[in-house]
Amino acid sequence: MQLFAKPLSASLLFASMVFFYYGIDWLNYARAGKLILTGAPTIGLLLALFYRRQSSRWLITLYVLVTIVLFANLSFQAGLRDIFGVEQDEMMIMKSIFGTDAQESYEFVLQYKPYLLKHLLLFLVLSSSFLFLTIRPMNRSVTSISNKILLVWIALFITGHLDKSIRKSNPLVFFPYFYMEYRQELNELHALTDILKKNLDSNTLSQVKYTGEHRRNTVVWVIGESSTKYNWSLYGYERDTTPMIKRIEKSLLVFHEITAAAPITIPAFEKMMTQADKAHPDLWKKTPSIIQLAKQAGYHTYWISNHTTDAHSGITYIFAHQADDVVMTNKGKARGEGSYDESVFPAYQKALRDPYEKKLIIVHLLGSHPAYNFRYPKSYAIFTGTYDDAVAKTLLDRGRAKWAVTFRNLYDNSIRYGDYVRYTLLSLLQQSRESSHASWLYHPDHGEDVCHHNNFSGHNPQAKEQWEIPMLFWASKIPKIDTTQSYDLENIGSSILGLLKIDARSYHAEKDIFLRR
Ligand SMILES: [Zn+2]
Repeated sequence: MQLFAKPLSASLLFASMVFFYYGIDWLNYARAGKLILTGAPTIGLLLALFYRRQSSRWLITLYVLVTIVLFANLSFQAGLRDIFGVEQDEMMIMKSIFGTDAQESYEFVLQYKPYLLKHLLLFLVLSSSFLFLTIRPMNRSVTSISNKILLVWIALFITGHLDKSIRKSNPLVFFPYFYMEYRQELNELHALTDILKKNLDSNTLSQVKYTGEHRRNTVVWVIGESSTKYNWSLYGYERDTTPMIKRIEKSLLVFHEITAAAPITIPAFEKMMTQADKAHPDLWKKTPSIIQLAKQAGYHTYWISNHTTDAHSGITYIFAHQADDVVMTNKGKARGEGSYDESVFPAYQKALRDPYEKKLIIVHLLGSHPAYNFRYPKSYAIFTGTYDDAVAKTLLDRGRAKWAVTFRNLYDNSIRYGDYVRYTLLSLLQQSRESSHASWLYHPDHGEDVCHHNNFSGHNPQAKEQWEIPMLFWASKIPKIDTTQSYDLENIGSSILGLLKIDARSYHAEKDIFLRR
C-alpha cells in the first residue's frame, strides 16, 4: 500500500488507468499519450510537494481536486470517442458544449443515457480507488523527499507542458482555453454580422442581377435534419416510412446520389449558404450568403424555423436573421416535446400569401434530430413496439440490442411524420397562387446512423448513412435532368441561385445541378 503513495508509483498508477482506456479503444494513442504526459507529472509533482512540505492540508485538498478533474476529463475524452468517435480538439465539440441550451442538454442525456451511465460509473470507480490507494497510506508514513527529487518532478511537469498541443490536453488548460476561443468566435460573429452588413453594397453584391424573364418567382428551400436516405421507403427501405411522397413520386425529381456538405449542422450550413466548401471551409466569412444575394436581387426573403439552433447565437442565427421575415416557431424551454415541425405551417402559408413578386422562403425543420421520440405526435408512433417485422428481425438477428431497435423504431416514426410535413409543405405551395411560377427543393442538412452498424444511434461521421441523404425537387416547369448523378451539397448554393435566376459572382453554372442534363 505504502508503495502507491510515492509520487512515482501514483503517477504510474494514473498512467496505467489511462492505458486501460487505450486498451479498450476509448482513447487513441495520441490522446492517451497526451493525457499521461500532462496528468502523470501533475500527480507526481503534487505528491512530491506534499511529502516535501510534511503533509500540508491545502496541498492534499488541491491533490484531491486535481485528481478528480483529471479523472473526469479521462471519462469525458473516453466518452467522446466511445459515443461520437471524435476528439475534444474539434471546435465543433466545444461549440456544442458551450452553445447548448437546457433543452438540448436534456435531450442529449435522454438519448445517450446508457453511455453516460457507463462512463459515470467508471469515473466513480476509477477515481475513488485511485484516491483510496494514494491517500490512505499518507497518514501513516510521511517520509520527506529530497530537493533533488522535487526538482525532477518540477522538470517533468514543465516538460510535459512545453508543447502547446500537449498542454491543451490538460483539462485545467483546455476548458478555459476553448471557452476563450468560443467567446472569441462569438465576438467575431458579431463583428462579422456588422462587416457583412457594411459589405452589402461592395463589389460582389453590386454585380448581382435578376435575369428571370418573368416578374414573379418563388423559391421554397426546405432544409431538414438528420435524415438518411437509407430509412426512406422511397429509396427502398422495407418499412413504409414515406407513403405520401411515394404517391406523388412521378411528379417530382427524386435524386439518388446526394452527399451532405458536412456530417453535422453548423459546418453543413456554412457550406450550403455560402461559397465555402471542404477545400475552402472559411469562405463563409468572406462571401455573401444566398439570402444576401437574393435580397440584393430584389427578393423578399423568409427564414421560417422550428430548429432551436437558429434562435441562438452562431452562424445559423446570423443566416436566419439576414432574412426580411424571421419566424422561430420552437419556443422550446426545458423540454423538447410539443414543437413538431407542422408548427411552421401557419408562417409558411402567410409567406405564400404575401404579395411580393419575388420570394425566397427558407424552411428549417427539426426533422429527425435526436431525441427522436420528441419529433412526432402520438398518432405517428407507427413503428413503436415493432420487434417482429423484417427490419427489426434483421437487426435482432445481427445481434442488435432490443433498446437499439427501439431507437430505430422511434427514428422511423420521425421519418414517417417528416413525410407528412414535406408532403404538406409541397401541397400548400401547389395549391397557392404561386404554383405557376414556383420551385420547391427539399434535403436534410445531413443523415444519421441509427444502429445501422452496431447499437449506436446518433451523428456518426464514419457511417455512410450520415452522408448519403434524400433530395426532392418540384417546380412549375420541371427540367429534364439526370437524377442519378452524384452531387455534393456544398455546391447547392449555385443551384439555388440558378432557381432564383440570379447572376452573381457566387454563381457557378458547372455547380448548378439543374443545368446538368
Ligand atoms: Zn443537423
